[in-house]
Amino acid sequence: MTKRISHWIDGKPWAGVAQRTGEVYDPATGQVSGRVDFASPSEVDEAVSAAARAFAGWRDTSLAARSNVLFAFRELLSARRRDLAEIVTAEHGKVLDDAAGEIQRALEAVEFACGVPHLLKGGFSENVSRRVDVYSIRQPLGVVGVISPFNFPAMVPLWFVPNAIACGNAVVLKPSEKDPSASNFVAELWAEAGLPDGVLNVLHGDKVAVDGLLTHPTVRGISFVGSTPIARYVYETGTRHGKRVQALGGAKNHMVVLPDADLDLAADAAVSAGFGSAGERCMAIAVVVAVGPTGDELVGKISDRMARLHVGDGRRTGCEMGPLVTAAHRDRVASYVDSGVGSGATLAVDGRDHPVDGSSDGFWLGPTLFDHVRPDMSIYTDEIFGPVLSVVRVPTYESAVELVNANPYGNGTAIFTNDGGAARRYQNEIEVGMVGVNVPIPVPVGYYSFGGWKDSLFGDTHAYGPDGIHFFTRNKVVTSRWLDPSHGGVNLGFPRND
Ligand code: NAD
Repeated sequence: MTKRISHWIDGKPWAGVAQRTGEVYDPATGQVSGRVDFASPSEVDEAVSAAARAFAGWRDTSLAARSNVLFAFRELLSARRRDLAEIVTAEHGKVLDDAAGEIQRALEAVEFACGVPHLLKGGFSENVSRRVDVYSIRQPLGVVGVISPFNFPAMVPLWFVPNAIACGNAVVLKPSEKDPSASNFVAELWAEAGLPDGVLNVLHGDKVAVDGLLTHPTVRGISFVGSTPIARYVYETGTRHGKRVQALGGAKNHMVVLPDADLDLAADAAVSAGFGSAGERCMAIAVVVAVGPTGDELVGKISDRMARLHVGDGRRTGCEMGPLVTAAHRDRVASYVDSGVGSGATLAVDGRDHPVDGSSDGFWLGPTLFDHVRPDMSIYTDEIFGPVLSVVRVPTYESAVELVNANPYGNGTAIFTNDGGAARRYQNEIEVGMVGVNVPIPVPVGYYSFGGWKDSLFGDTHAYGPDGIHFFTRNKVVTSRWLDPSHGGVNLGFPRND
């Protein structure tokens, strides 16, 4: 029996009959586990209308009441994290411990939003002119859309939803159709936390649902995370329809290893960050840049560690890397192994031979390592989004920086070195939004903001943290005069603050 996964609109499961549906898989067994409804334009309208009705009351709900809901949600999410992790693993495939880590990071974003009474404090200037005061207010946008990718079905929606709600907006969340159940579970937790009906709606589907949100006149803002071509499309379409849009795209993250680095530390980091979540992370390390003479020793240490990785069903004890999300994605990633060999890179570790602790029908591909990769090869230029790690050898620090800065993506990067001056120079010179120094996955904590540069982000603001509050509010400035009987009569001159 496959379960039906439907929209969550106005505080309850949608009762209609979908015209189109999609299959949801258990990637570790290859079996269809559910069928998800795909929204048509009329269901988009239903969700947006529910959000618009809810917004009218929610925007005027006191900050104390809003933050009480956020605190209650935080407690529920923390208490139910194991249940949510199991849902994530069942549809995404990542191992349970990794799913739990994603929820822990989501909690950080919720905790930040719990401080919304402080975060929404405006400015006040008394006596800017005689008995004239000026103050600023941050007000919600209205109905906002959040469109999320498959690879973090719990965390990425919660990068945006807590801040959006805390600021007084109403949300329509369109999660990935590949692993939709986590969003419904989270929506139920919000309801249990006391969030009024309609303030958060979950709309399932594909391009039809996304286009419906991007063009709907009532939707005021869009937060998107996904691949670069779709992020660009979402940014262009949404802004053309008058919306505020932040669209986070794909990545090709480089880890630069200088000759003075601790190579054991660097090898551990490359394997963890290259193959965690089967490389299906926008902050995964895809390229190790071996500077100077480090190449041979580094490739040896990375290969040794890869041989010991336990690949299998994420629900089984001891598994460190799960399957890929779908058969089609596994086949696409595997095609890059052929392509790398064909273009002349050295196949140092062939993931197709790796033993698997799971059903033979799962969407498996073991960890793969290429050495002597050149920047013109497709395994270097393309975002593979799977367990394929490339080593590019360069002679100097300068050539490493040149390589990273020439790449069109600019999401994350890391440098491994024991030279503080080199690390300081790298953080200054590198054209990437998030930088790690001896830290391979520099995802900022919840009270900073997350975002890449160049083709990794379209728009001006990063996700969650202070940038999130900025994105989900509009500034209003009030100039007010009270208790001034002598206002000067008629004066057609431009107001001066004498
Ligand atoms: P995707 O772009 O295929 O899908 C993202 C969302 O867009 C989904 O909700 C999907 O339903 C929708 N979508 C897909 N095709 C569409 C179309 N033609 N028109 C309109 N909407 C469409 O991405 P994915 O495969 O789900 O996720 C992986 C990608 O996301 C990778 O490129 C990864 O780097 C990126 N990602 C980026 C970040 C970041 O913070 N920069 C974080 C996580 C993932």
